[in-house]
Amino acid sequence: MIKNNKAIVDIDNTLWHFCDAFYEELRKINKNFPTPDRWTHWDIWQGYCTEADFYSAVNAVHLKQHDDNYLPYPEAQDFLINLKENGYHITIASHRSPDYRKQTEIWLEKHGLVHDELHLSFHKTQLFTEYTDVVVDDSPHVLEKAVNKGVMATGLLFPWNRDYADNGFMLFRNLNEIFEHILKRNSD
Ligand SMILES: [Mg+2]
Repeated sequence: MIKNNKAIVDIDNTLWHFCDAFYEELRKINKNFPTPDRWTHWDIWQGYCTEADFYSAVNAVHLKQHDDNYLPYPEAQDFLINLKENGYHITIASHRSPDYRKQTEIWLEKHGLVHDELHLSFHKTQLFTEYTDVVVDDSPHVLEKAVNKGVMATGLLFPWNRDYADNGFMLFRNLNEIFEHILKRNSD
């Protein structure tokens, strides 16, 4: 039985492979931009583009989130449905401008990505409360914040979080493994 039933689930690199779409935008700025498998630090853009360019590329992806080529991971729909069926209240929380809410809503709806709330901001860790059972995210910073609040933290494994994998959260290869981890933890 779940004591606190809130699940806070990220979008980018959690429900879909944002990094590839982002890389396509970064290549428009500098065709020598390193490929995502080499993104081991958040400041990877240094030497390839300006910080402003970097964030405009983020926005370029979010502006067309509902593009037909932007697909969720194959396990994403069932992952959210399974959370719902196990009694979770799901907040989908993305680090992005609320200006892209419409595009984000269309994308979630189009792909049957069920949720109870949608939170778009640059301070999602403020959502973590005593009622939060699990945070699913790829950002080591976000995951560490969850751990510090005593919340279960987990996400997909990437080059940019691999080095932080021992900091109290668990990283997995796909959403099915994450779901099994959540269920197992709660049945222990
Ligand atoms: Mg993310």
